[in-house]
Parts: sequence; structure tokens; C-alpha cells
Amino acid sequence: MSLSPQRASFPDSQEPQEAAMLCAVSKKPCDFVSRGSFLDRSGMVGNIEVRQCRHCNHAVTQPPIADVSFLYGDRESQDYQPDTKGGISRAIKNIAFRAQARKLLRQIGTPGRRALDFGCGSGQFTRVLGEMLPGTELVGSDFFHSPPAELAGKGYTHSDALASQADSFDLVMAFHVLEHDDDVAGLLDRILTPARRGATVVVEVPNVECAWNKVFGRFWDAWYVPFHRNHFSRRSLVSILEGRGLNVRAVHSITAPTMGRTMANLAGQTNNLFWLLLGIALHPLQLLGEKMTGQPTAIRVIATKQ
Ligand SMILES: [Zn+2]
Repeated sequence: MSLSPQRASFPDSQEPQEAAMLCAVSKKPCDFVSRGSFLDRSGMVGNIEVRQCRHCNHAVTQPPIADVSFLYGDRESQDYQPDTKGGISRAIKNIAFRAQARKLLRQIGTPGRRALDFGCGSGQFTRVLGEMLPGTELVGSDFFHSPPAELAGKGYTHSDALASQADSFDLVMAFHVLEHDDDVAGLLDRILTPARRGATVVVEVPNVECAWNKVFGRFWDAWYVPFHRNHFSRRSLVSILEGRGLNVRAVHSITAPTMGRTMANLAGQTNNLFWLLLGIALHPLQLLGEKMTGQPTAIRVIATKQ
């Protein structure tokens, strides 16, 4: 088995991600065991292994990648799939995002004067949410220099520029961001720096304990490796956020639309409108399974920066 160059620089088992994880259950370093090899969805890394803690279920993707930006060179990864050409797919997502935005606003209450969507991706959700908040300045941010087409002419800041906007946002959101970097603590600091004291912080990530993980194994779409670097359980996420000084107010179960893409993975095909529609058709079944097991696709934490 050949080792990738990134792996070769960390030849023993003390990978940096693993060494950094203090277990939410044992209160010692997490005790990682291999979950085997996984499909390289980028085609750029080669052999990929997922290792999971036997106590808190937090998992990490190996080999380590210190700078993940090469994976997203041209906004082509599935998470960032732009939908700006119009059509049915975009219309469906607009409807879904409006429903998600209403739900989010019920969970957080008043968003305040300035809000930040850290890691805004395509910007479609940011735009939809912004349209529902006429009294709030909503800024999207990502590590691309130009804004996504959805946010052209609207609020957008390069993530490097956020350091100069410390303590200035009343609401900071990071949807499906924290799982994208090896250095969770460092990324979390960058997310939290723009938030003022007392600000509401929303962090949502896939749930590694999700019921569908057991059914679909490595085809389950949240095993989106190598893009997803850390895989959180409720316990590991809450422990990490509290460890950075956040006051966790609520932990919500989120049924994210992953079923269509999971089916596409099983069929060995790339995601398109057909799989999106199949995912919608299967949504009631997905929701039922997650309600029955109490293990949703994603976990959303609402917290306060102290
Ligand atoms: Zn652990």
C-alpha cells in the first residue's frame, strides 16, 4: 500500500488531529481505532482511512492535510456546487432554504444588527436568509477572494479579512464548516473572533452517530472524505465548543438532505437533479428513521460567546 506525501510526513500513529482530541467521555486523549479505507471523493489524495474514538465516537480522516484549500480550488466540490443558472434544482433549494431559515430564526430568536455566515459556500442560503432579515446586515464569508454569484453586490468578506472585524457581529453562523479542517480549535477561533461577547453562535455539522451511517456505511454522504476532516458526535461537538468557552444553550437534531447524494454514491454516479428528486421522495423515510433512532443526519448547537 503506497502512502501519500502528507501521510509520509507523519509516519507514526500520533497524527496531529488525534493528538489534539481530548475525549469527551474518558477525559484523556481519544482512543482511535481504524474504520477501514474510504472512497477518495476528490480523486486527489489516494488512500483514505477514517479512525474513530471507541469512547466518544469522534472520528478523523487520514492522512492529515495541513492546508485543505487545494481541495476546493475551483468551487467544484459537491458542498459548493453552484446553482446559479436557474432551473428546477435551484428553485427547489430556494424553497427548502426558506423553510430552513424560518426554523433557524425560531431557534435563535432576534438575530441582531450584524450577522455573519462563516463558510457561506454557494451563498444561496445566505441570500435567502438575508432576504428574510431586512433589519440585519448579513455578511457571507469564505476563503475565495470573489463572492459567490448569489452574493454578488451583497455583503461578502474574505475569511482572512474577518480578523480585523473582531467582536463586531451579534450572530455568527457556521453551517457544515467545522468538519472541513484538521485543526478544529484553530478554525473555531477564526469563527468565534468576529463574534462580540454575548453574541449568538450557531454551529452545525454532520452527526457521525447518524442512523444512516450504520445502514449505508462508507456510502453515507456525510463520509464526504477527504473534504470532511473531522466527524463529530453530539458529545464531541459540545465538549469542543464548551472547551473554547462557549455557553451551549441548545442542541438541535437536523435532518439534512443527504439521502439523494447517498443513493448517487451507491450507484457510483455524481449528484444531479434525478438524485435530488429521489432524495426528496425518500425524505419522509429518512425523517422517520432519524426520529425513531434519535440520531439525526446533523447536529446544530446554539451557543453564546461569553
Ligand atoms: Zn473520544
